[in-house]
Amino acid sequence: MIVLKTHHELDLMREAGRISAAALKAAGEAVAPGVSTAEIDKVAHDYILSQGATPAFLNYNGFPATACISVNNEVIHGIPDKKHIIHEGDIVSIDLGAVYNGFYGDNAYTFYCGKVSPAAERLCNTTKEALYVGLKHAVAGGRLGDIGAAIEEYCVSRGYGVVRDYTGHGVGRHLHEDPSVPNYGKPGRGVRLIPGMTIAIEPMINEGAESVNVLKNGWTVVTADGKLSAHFEHTVAITEGECVILTQC
Ligand code: MG
Repeated sequence: MIVLKTHHELDLMREAGRISAAALKAAGEAVAPGVSTAEIDKVAHDYILSQGATPAFLNYNGFPATACISVNNEVIHGIPDKKHIIHEGDIVSIDLGAVYNGFYGDNAYTFYCGKVSPAAERLCNTTKEALYVGLKHAVAGGRLGDIGAAIEEYCVSRGYGVVRDYTGHGVGRHLHEDPSVPNYGKPGRGVRLIPGMTIAIEPMINEGAESVNVLKNGWTVVTADGKLSAHFEHTVAITEGECVILTQC
C-alpha cells in the first residue's frame, strides 16, 4: 500500500531529510587515506545523535551500524569495520538515513578517497547523473516505469550494468514502504506517480556486468566480476511540478 503524505508530514520528512543529508556530508568529509570505515561510520552516528535524531539503519534487520559503507567492488550494504582501511584511489559509497519526528530520510553518495582513476570518475559521474535523470521523470502524472527506464537507458548506453536485484523504495514512517522503485523499466508502465508520494531513488551502477553476490556476512553485496560499483540516492516528494528533494542540507 502506498501511503501519501500531507503537507505537514512532508515538512517533517524534510527535517529528517536535512539531518540525513548533513550526516552524509559529514561522513563524506571524513573519507581520507588511512581512515577506517568504522571511523567514518562514527562521524555519521555522532552527527545524527547530535541532532536529536536516530540512525535509521542501526539494528534494522540486525544491521550493526549507522551507515552502509561499500568500497570499490562493493555495491551496497558494506558493514563498517575498524580493520577496513580505505586507500588513495578508492571509491567509497556511503548510504545512511535518520529518523526524526517519526519520519525517515534516506540518501547515498559515492565519495572519492583522494584522486581516483578516470574509469572510477566516469562511473561515479554517470551514476550521479543517472540519479538526476531519474528525478526529472519523478513527476505527478508520470509512471514509475518512466523513472527506471530513463536511468537504465542513461547507464546502459554508456556501457554500464544496472543492478536489478536491489531497488529504490517508498519511504516515510517506515524506511522501506511501497512501491519498489527499480532502476530499470518501461516508459508508461507501473504505478502512476501522484502528489504526496515519497520515494527513494537510488541507482546502483556497475562498471561491468549487472550481476552481484552477497558475501558470507549476509550483508555486503559485491559485483560478481569484481569491477567497481557506484551508488547515489535521494529521498524525494512527488508534487504537481518537479519533485522536491527532501535529503538536502
Ligand atoms: Mg534507500
